[in-house]
Amino acid sequence: MELYPHVYQIQSLFAGRNLFQYLFVGDNTVLVDTGIATTPEQVVFPYMDSLQLSPQRLTLAVTTHSDLDHQGGNDAIKRASPGTWLSCGAADRALVEDPRALYDIRYNFLRPDHNMGFEPDPAPDAGKARCMDLCFTGGEIIRLSDAWHLEVLHVPGHSHGHLALYDPLHKTAFVGDAIHGRGCPKATGGLAIPVTYYYVDIYLSTLRYFEHLPIDALYSGHWPIMHGEEIRDFIAESRQTVEFLDRVILTSLEKNRAGLTMKELVDAVASAVGDWPPDSWLLAMFPVKGHMDRLEEQGKVRALRGTRPVKFELT
Ligand SMILES: [Zn+2]
Repeated sequence: MELYPHVYQIQSLFAGRNLFQYLFVGDNTVLVDTGIATTPEQVVFPYMDSLQLSPQRLTLAVTTHSDLDHQGGNDAIKRASPGTWLSCGAADRALVEDPRALYDIRYNFLRPDHNMGFEPDPAPDAGKARCMDLCFTGGEIIRLSDAWHLEVLHVPGHSHGHLALYDPLHKTAFVGDAIHGRGCPKATGGLAIPVTYYYVDIYLSTLRYFEHLPIDALYSGHWPIMHGEEIRDFIAESRQTVEFLDRVILTSLEKNRAGLTMKELVDAVASAVGDWPPDSWLLAMFPVKGHMDRLEEQGKVRALRGTRPVKFELT
């Protein structure tokens, strides 16, 4: 779908959710996110072909953050077009370059202490290991043509190195999974999975940053296109969700003075939210762990480190 002249949204489905990549066609051609391993060959290249663009026309592919549905296609891009530069946020580089690291460091980091995580080995969707050609830390400019450029924004929270791209000429932002609302929707409506922000204070500062950026249209990795007030409401809902999770966690610990495990806290939070599908609750381990880290720093909660799985209690 053409969003506005020379800018395209490329849509496919992944696990019942929309998965979007974005293509900017100027003197330089830029792809935002590469999807899962098969997305370039099955979705992106056929779409480019319909615009009479070969894969070799891609100047740059930007992976917004370290997740298999955003980085999995990097290897396929490089195989089809060795001259295309692959890029991501500097702080996400190790995880974007290697699915093994993505699984060990991001998806299974709670295994030892909390016995929660994904399957141990990377799924085929995560693609093959590929080195980045370029890393961004925010503030860089990507020239599309002489009168048109993208600004690279560093918007952490969901991951440390999460990037967004801002088109100041059109006041549009391409934010990947930087903003979560109450969760990620199914393509057919309703929520598919929980919020998956992790670094709570950093996520809140990213939300504030977006609120002060003039944005007329917001484009993301999975959420519907938003304009004007919808953007304000989405950001406000995202902040309210953070506050809600914090309250539910503290209330649950108050009621259970003997302490709760991470799994019990995840279940408490997910039950309170009410409309995250039960088979997706595991993913709430990311925000719940983020909240527990923050509550520990604030001195409100203590982790009983001798227990397995680790229990948390109020101080
Ligand atoms: Zn995603």
